[in-house]
Amino acid sequence: MQFENTLKFAQKLDSEDKLHDYKNEFHFPQVNGKDVIYFTGNSLGLQPKCTQSYIDEVMTDWKNLAVEGHFHSKKPWWDYHERLAEPLSEIVGAKTEEVSVMNTLTANLHFLMVSFYRPTKKRFKILCEEKAFPSDQYLLQSQVKFHGFNPDEALVEVKKREGEHFWRTEDVVAKIKEVGEELALVLIGGVNYYNGQVFDMETITKIGKSVGAFVGWDLAHAVGNIELKLHTWGVDFAAWCSYKYMNSGPGNASGIFVHEKHLADDSIPRFQGWWGTKKETRFLMKPEFESTHTADSWQVSNPSVLSLAPYLSSLTLFEEVGMKSLIEKRISIVSYLEFILHEIDKEVNSTFEIITPMERGCQLSVLLHGEGRPLFDYLMKNGVIVDWREPNVIRLAPAPFYCSYEDMYRFGQILKEGILSK
Ligand SMILES: *Cc1c(COP(=O)(O)O)cnc(C)c1O
Repeated sequence: MQFENTLKFAQKLDSEDKLHDYKNEFHFPQVNGKDVIYFTGNSLGLQPKCTQSYIDEVMTDWKNLAVEGHFHSKKPWWDYHERLAEPLSEIVGAKTEEVSVMNTLTANLHFLMVSFYRPTKKRFKILCEEKAFPSDQYLLQSQVKFHGFNPDEALVEVKKREGEHFWRTEDVVAKIKEVGEELALVLIGGVNYYNGQVFDMETITKIGKSVGAFVGWDLAHAVGNIELKLHTWGVDFAAWCSYKYMNSGPGNASGIFVHEKHLADDSIPRFQGWWGTKKETRFLMKPEFESTHTADSWQVSNPSVLSLAPYLSSLTLFEEVGMKSLIEKRISIVSYLEFILHEIDKEVNSTFEIITPMERGCQLSVLLHGEGRPLFDYLMKNGVIVDWREPNVIRLAPAPFYCSYEDMYRFGQILKEGILSK
């Protein structure tokens, strides 16, 4: 499509967008009395308007029923988490029994590594991307040390090439083959938080498996953003948070995936708790752990219902719209944003550099050569919420649920004013 950098053209795209009205299903912060242009759905998604009622329902049931709410509230609490597995399995390309929701992301990755990082003297290395999200780096360092290994030896980072801003699949593959029989685990962020790159999860999983390693993915920036086929790809495990593209609210519950092939295997070690046992016999309070033989067997505690309720509410929107429509719009709106950036770049004679490769999801990371912190302050003051990384990278994620083409056009105008007003 031939794009145009005009309000009229942006509005025409909005009028043809079947997701356009979903903007009204979310609460927007206001700046100068107007809804902001929100580019940070990759960090904390906006609050769906339906969420409040899901929380109110729990509060009311708690008020009126107290302990009886476990079994007699409108949505009984004791198996509240089970309601999320089916809609989520659609989103991540899994079978319902392969998905569960609990805890938070880094905590879940630790729990999953108990099961899937069992190093031996010979096979003890973990492969990850260089400069992984800090929490993932601390996770991996501490797991390696916990097992008595030296992170300098056990952690193998795949580097970007000199002068390039992205990872090449061939380099990941070569590194996996090089480490070969020493490789215990591949654990990478499926969509990189910094440059927005989507890794070729299918290929990397296949190669990782072929050298005998387990392969897991941190899907914090992938879930609700790109197409995932975790089951078909043969991924061993994955985890994600729900507050980025999934709009569940700050710090809220994390999802996990464990491949079907592992579910009935009672020889896999696990840090266990009572909610991992079969529902039918759970309250017999027996000393033996009877696994559910689903991803739920990684549950430890009774569900945090007040954190699951917003997630469930947001999933109803995902169910209604479907990932296919979200992905279609995402591809189109990100292309439009890219076009706008190039147009403004020409108009102001600046030198933006989009460091996100074509293998991308919702996020464009832009190096603003010559611009600095004052530009970021200008954008924020003028109702554009973006994310700034020192020294001069902005990350822009126009979440398809609630961003419009007109937002992209208006952002371009504000960006231009910001640069020219210097
Ligand atoms: C956002 C993010 C996290 C956050 O972890 P929490 O445990 O939810 O605080 C972890 N890893 C990656 C790759 C992320 O993008």
